[in-house]
Amino acid sequence: MSGEYDYIVVGAGTAGCVVASRLAERPGTRVLLLEAGGSDMRLMIQLPIGYGRTFFDSSVNWMYDTDPVPGLGGRSSYWPRGKVVGGSGSINAMVHVRGFAHDFDDWRDAGNPGWGWDDVLPMFIRAEDSDIVEPGWRGQGGPQHVTDISGKVHPLCHRFIAAGQALGLPVSPDFNGSKGEGLGIFQITTRDGRRASTANEYLRPAIRRGGIDLQTHAQATRVLFEGKRAVGIEYRQHGRTKTAKARAEVVLCGGSIASPQLLQLSGVGDGAHLTGLGIDPLHQLPGVGANMQDHLAVSYFYGSSEPTLNDELGPLLGKARAALNYAWNRGGPLSMSVNQAGGFVRGTPGAERVNLQLYFSPVSYTKTPLSERRLANPDPFSAFLLSFNACRPTSRGWLKIRSKDAAVQPQIQPNYLDTEHDIAEARQGIEMLNRIAVAAPLVDIITGRLVPGPEVSSEDDWIEDFRQRADTVYHPSSTCMMGPDPARAVVDHRLRVHGLEALRVADSSIFPTVTSGNTNAPTVMVGEKAAQMLREDAT
Ligand SMILES: Cc1cc2nc3c(=O)[nH]c(=O)nc-3n(C[C@H](O)[C@H](O)[C@H](O)COP(=O)(O)OP(=O)(O)OC[C@H]3O[C@@H](n4cnc5c(N)ncnc54)[C@H](O)[C@@H]3O)c2cc1C
Repeated sequence: MSGEYDYIVVGAGTAGCVVASRLAERPGTRVLLLEAGGSDMRLMIQLPIGYGRTFFDSSVNWMYDTDPVPGLGGRSSYWPRGKVVGGSGSINAMVHVRGFAHDFDDWRDAGNPGWGWDDVLPMFIRAEDSDIVEPGWRGQGGPQHVTDISGKVHPLCHRFIAAGQALGLPVSPDFNGSKGEGLGIFQITTRDGRRASTANEYLRPAIRRGGIDLQTHAQATRVLFEGKRAVGIEYRQHGRTKTAKARAEVVLCGGSIASPQLLQLSGVGDGAHLTGLGIDPLHQLPGVGANMQDHLAVSYFYGSSEPTLNDELGPLLGKARAALNYAWNRGGPLSMSVNQAGGFVRGTPGAERVNLQLYFSPVSYTKTPLSERRLANPDPFSAFLLSFNACRPTSRGWLKIRSKDAAVQPQIQPNYLDTEHDIAEARQGIEMLNRIAVAAPLVDIITGRLVPGPEVSSEDDWIEDFRQRADTVYHPSSTCMMGPDPARAVVDHRLRVHGLEALRVADSSIFPTVTSGNTNAPTVMVGEKAAQMLREDAT
């Protein structure tokens, strides 16, 4: 294909694969899809449990570090992001959660018509090929396979759910169905035991159909403008600087770090900041990189009198058995996420909405440092973990480029625990997990609390432990926030960058607020909706 296309999509991640594939469905449409990383045809990407390895692999991962975070006692946070076809969807933990109706009604009520639950539900349904059937809620026959693992999870998951029931918490048969509140089993994005990223589910079939030129190892360095109209992209590939032209539009799908980074590199952002770096400001838009949100979680580890995944994934014999199980049946622990059970609950009985997400993982890694492929090195004894994060934190962070060189990582400040609201919800989560851990039948198999140890006992100890050990759930969002006010937001409700033409952002960065659950499924939805709007506006 030549250097001129109808659309240029920057970033072949979760959203970018959806946008490019849907755009190319219209006959004769030519789409250039630029991806800074390389191919995702690697065992540790396609094998579901392989995300334990890609977590620290710079050949497929941007491996960002944030600035020291005051709310975390001055610790910085390690932020993996996929740098590979499929993006973060190629290295994530595959948990499939859409979020709750009120998440999207909030988006609409913040001045974004067309983004309420009734508007986005059809997009979730059309994206999906779900094992679970609930007419009007779940989709069958769409590109994205969603696997029901409820019959295959580790047996201890059921003890966790029963302990919640004993406390009066509801049970959810399907976090993505009409009864999403309560404890239950997560669904995951796999197909026949293989990772079902949007690269596998959307992009590969679309490339076979034609119309998409996927360029890998191609890092966009600047959006090219004529006046205030985006007309193309400058990018670096194999040491050379190249340009490509877009007749219709340029769509940024670089994710919550790279989309605002690329806008700032292109002169779109806070003029004073950009001028200070020697970049000519093209358009004043102070919201670029601001408004960042993320989920912050902590894990508590318990010894178990019953075997856990540690006993299956740790010893050499167990590893060999798991590998054989996978080779023969595409089944067993290698075909799944370790995040198997969890839930969405109210931290106080009077809470208006669910506000805590819980996790139960039948695995532990108290001895392995964060940097050492933890899933491959679980503790050499039976143990499991409980974890929680607040669903809708109110703290907001920011991101700023440090240099006009696109190769330099931006400065990231997530500002975790910056609000009283978030500290109060941390207290609720701590209390919730401590109640579940002493409820039967879970308590019956607990041999002791491993981390934090018995020295953590008072309310102040627990919150200090949270500050010392809590970390990202890898859900940064909202850095190119959608909203009507260009003084705060970056894109309008049709994802057009305020004040510019032929330029949209379509990825997790546009979320006005982070959704209550994991962010991959809502990012797929954003991709679906973006493609629909691009097609409508082209006619
Ligand atoms: C370790 C981990 C575990 C996670 N677990 C879960 C989970 O279990 N469930 C869940 O729902 N969510 C999970 N997430 C979050 C989820 O994967 C993300 O929210 C989602 O993938 C974001 O999609 P995106 O399209 O916004 O960005 P990405 O998928 O990150 O895509 C951005 C793409 O753009 C490319 N790119 C960046 N800059 C440029 C440039 N200048 N030029 C060209 N290409 C560029 C990147 O290389 C990347 O491929 C996890 C994330 C991580 C990192």
